[in-house]
This record gives sequence, C-alpha cells and structure tokens, in this order.
Amino acid sequence: MRAVVYRRPFEVAVEEVPDPRIEQPNDVIVRVTSTCICGTDLYLYEGRAGVEPGTVVGHENLGVVEEVGAGVTALEQGDRVVMPFTVACGFCRNCRAGSSGSCLTVTPAGRAGSPYGGSPYGGVTPAPCAGGQAEYLRVPYADVNCLPLPAGTDHESDYVLLSDVFPTGYHGCRLAGLSPGGTVAVYGAGPVGLMAAYCALLCGASGVFVVDGRPERLAMARDIGAVAVDPSAGDPAQQIRDLTGGEGTDTGVDAVGFPVPTETGDGEEPAAVLDQLVRTVRPTGGLGVPGPCVRRGPDGVVPDAGPGTLLVTIGTLVDKGLRLGTGRADARRYDRQLRDLITEGRARPSFVVSHELPLDEAPNAYQMVDQRVDGFTKVVLRPDAA
Ligand SMILES: [Zn+2]
Ligand SMILES: [Zn+2]
Repeated sequence: MRAVVYRRPFEVAVEEVPDPRIEQPNDVIVRVTSTCICGTDLYLYEGRAGVEPGTVVGHENLGVVEEVGAGVTALEQGDRVVMPFTVACGFCRNCRAGSSGSCLTVTPAGRAGSPYGGSPYGGVTPAPCAGGQAEYLRVPYADVNCLPLPAGTDHESDYVLLSDVFPTGYHGCRLAGLSPGGTVAVYGAGPVGLMAAYCALLCGASGVFVVDGRPERLAMARDIGAVAVDPSAGDPAQQIRDLTGGEGTDTGVDAVGFPVPTETGDGEEPAAVLDQLVRTVRPTGGLGVPGPCVRRGPDGVVPDAGPGTLLVTIGTLVDKGLRLGTGRADARRYDRQLRDLITEGRARPSFVVSHELPLDEAPNAYQMVDQRVDGFTKVVLRPDAA
C-alpha cells in the first residue's frame, strides 16, 4: 500500500510499504478514507521527536473496517469508524477510570499517551502501531479504539476531527474549568485553539477571547463569534483585562502547542504563553494546557533549564490561586457526545479544514504547514482520491 513515511528531518515521502495485517485477535484493519496532518506531526517532521526513519506517520484517522480479528465483538466489515489519536486498551487502571489518553498497557510506565505513528513528545515512547496516513491502518484493541459513525460519506471532514483537535479543544476548556456563562482566553488560533474557542461557545461561554498574531486566523476566530486579540496592538494580557473590566478572564487555554520564538528570533521561549495566561486569568481562575507545551528534545529549551523544563512565574500562579490542568485529551471520554453534535447538525468543526488533498500531496502539504504558509490551517489527506 501507499503510506506517508518519515525519512529525515524536514522530509516525508509517499512510499510503497507492506499492507498491515491482523496481528492479534482484537485487531481490525481499516481502509483509511480521511487522515489529517496535525500540528504535533511537525515535531516528528522537524526531527524533534526521534522517530525512526521509515515510520508510517499519522494519528488522525477515519475509515471503513475492512478486516475483523476473531476476538472483536462490536465491529463488522463495512463499519465506518474514527480512531481517537492515542491507542488504549480499555482495561488498565487509567482506561477504566476514563483516562484512556494515559493508557498504561500501550505506554511505558511514567509516560502518558501513545499516538498512532509515534509520539511528538520524543522517542522514549515507541509507537504502539504504525500511523494512518496510508491506505490501510491496523487498529489494536479495536472494540475500544474505533468509534462507530453513521454509514455513508456525510460530514467526513467533521467526523475526522473527532480523532484529535475537536476533543482536544474541548478538553482544554474542561481542564481550565470553564462553565456556562464563564469567560475564556485562548492563546493560539491554530486548529486546536479554534476548536477550544468553538467548544467554549458550544458550552455557553459568555466571552471568548482568542490571541494570535496571524490576521487570517484571527478572522476565523471572529467568524465563529470570538473576540480577536491581536498581540501587535499591545500586550494581549493587558488587552483582555481591559476588555473584562480589569479583572481578566475566568479561564485560559494554552493552544499554541509549539514553542514560540524569542523576540530576537535566536531561540524559543516555551514559557511565554503559560506566563501570559497567568497574567490574563483572574485570581482563583483555571488554566488548561491540553497539548505539547515544551519539547523534550536533547538540546533543552532555555539556557537555565534542563530538557523538558521551563521557567514560569510560579509565584504569581500560586499567589493568584490559579488551578492548572494539563495533559492530552481522553478523546474517548468526549467523542460520543461530540459525534452526536455533528450528526444532529449542531456542530460543524470542519470550518478549520483548509485543504482536502490526495495522499500523494502529503510531502508538499507538510512543507506548507511547517512553514506556516497562510491558508494552510488544517489539511485532510484522502488516500482513496486520485
Ligand atoms: Zn493531532
Ligand atoms: Zn489502558
């Protein structure tokens, strides 16, 4: 089959690789019809994650069940399914408690979450199975990892976002403790930030402020009913405090997901967003960090910090009594409800999708997304398209 394979830093290729096959009785093989490029795929693409060359990448996958292992009970050939981005077993302590994003069976002790095709957090976590930017995908523990969808091809670009960014955006709001009538500041208007803002509005937030330096993304935030905050017009934390009667918001979400460059451009400042959130949210409020915050790369992050650490004004965080919620989304916890919102026409998250391309165009699409080319917000690859 054809698949997107990591070659070396800043290079992926579409290559012929062996078809996946049933390896365990609880596996299924899915014929992939939609698979997205994610912001966290850029960690792999840039060589920050230590993924082995030759790895098939891609953790945001939707398709049709093609082959069913003998131990699978809830799925049949022909079922249309979407797979949450991390693999889970369904029976470990964390899965049983609903925290399936931190499955203990597929992940070495002390680490959380194992996406298809490799973890953006670094090579310590081996991928539990290959990625889905391919014609076919093997899904282990299939009864747990496949969420059934209505048959047909409706809402394809909405449902595929159930694999990651839609539940991750929702998770950001949950981590922060947003409630109906509350206010939230979302830093970053990439797909996760836009989803966080969209979910905040779905949940009945009274004020949603979105901070991003790119006008086209601020326009998308404005289109869904959020207040766009442009950092070039002044300190965003101060702007948001001014817009909330000097108080600050009830909650805040860090949806930047990638270390931001320093002002001089000679390095990265991974603490900057979290620090701004601490200054943006009112005392006793809550912060949510649903995605990668600091890379664990061997080269560290700032001169005074070790690898995987950052410097943040923890004194202010404690002084204000802020709650800090972190961790990748337990997508399975939310996906049934979010799926039904799509099915019933009450949510249309695909407004973030900018491109629907054949699989063969993946190398160019990766380059465009990595270079932050305007207009490339979210790319869906279609392995069955010509
Ligand atoms: Zn993703
Ligand atoms: Zn588990």
